[in-house]
Amino acid sequence: MKIYIDLHIHTALSPCGDRDMTPNNIVNMAKLKGLDAIAITDHNSCENAAACIKAGKVAGILVIPGMEIQTKEDVHSVCLFRDIESAINFQNLVYNSLPQLKNKPDIFGEQILYDYSDNIVGINERFLLTSSNLSFNEACNLVKKLNGAFIPAHIDRNSFSVIFNLGFIPDNLPIKTVEYRNYEDLKKMKDSKIVKPDYRFIKSSDAHYLWDILERESFIDVDELTVSNIIDVL
Ligand SMILES: [Zn+2]
Ligand SMILES: [Zn+2]
Repeated sequence: MKIYIDLHIHTALSPCGDRDMTPNNIVNMAKLKGLDAIAITDHNSCENAAACIKAGKVAGILVIPGMEIQTKEDVHSVCLFRDIESAINFQNLVYNSLPQLKNKPDIFGEQILYDYSDNIVGINERFLLTSSNLSFNEACNLVKKLNGAFIPAHIDRNSFSVIFNLGFIPDNLPIKTVEYRNYEDLKKMKDSKIVKPDYRFIKSSDAHYLWDILERESFIDVDELTVSNIIDVL
């Protein structure tokens, strides 16, 4: 079956995420846009994923727990997991690899934690908007060990992307899928052979605001609508 997805969405836990990016606002907007599955991918953290999964169950949309890691090369990658336990295991590794600094909310923005009813249950004081000590290769291998999917993010962007920062996608890694934001930019990269054509290319919104969330424009084929089936494809 063809399912419509947006696998890169930030909540207000990301300091750059809008305050309206609460679990219920996100899942209901995604539902309204006709999506079947979304992923919650905050910067270097999964702490709002469980609340979004629960809110998604109520709204009737599948939510995949994830994270957008920033590795030591300043490269962003979307990491998706089959269950919240694996996501939290990965988060612990990432937290240990971040500089032990406090966020400066007046400069970077607040990092808000919600429950599944959109009540604020805390503030993450860790400095999340920075690079982990893990390398791109290390992060990819750790995600794979946890049976997750590792997807280089917004490869068509001129910052924080594997192509811009490293110049290439390492081909010794088990990467099947890469993410882009704009088809024209991706096409230019494919035409000039900057990126090999044999990846699966998925479009994601990288939404920091509710209106950024994709319409029914990015899809994959799965046998059944489950998190595991989606991760198997990716
Ligand atoms: Zn990013
Ligand atoms: Zn992002």
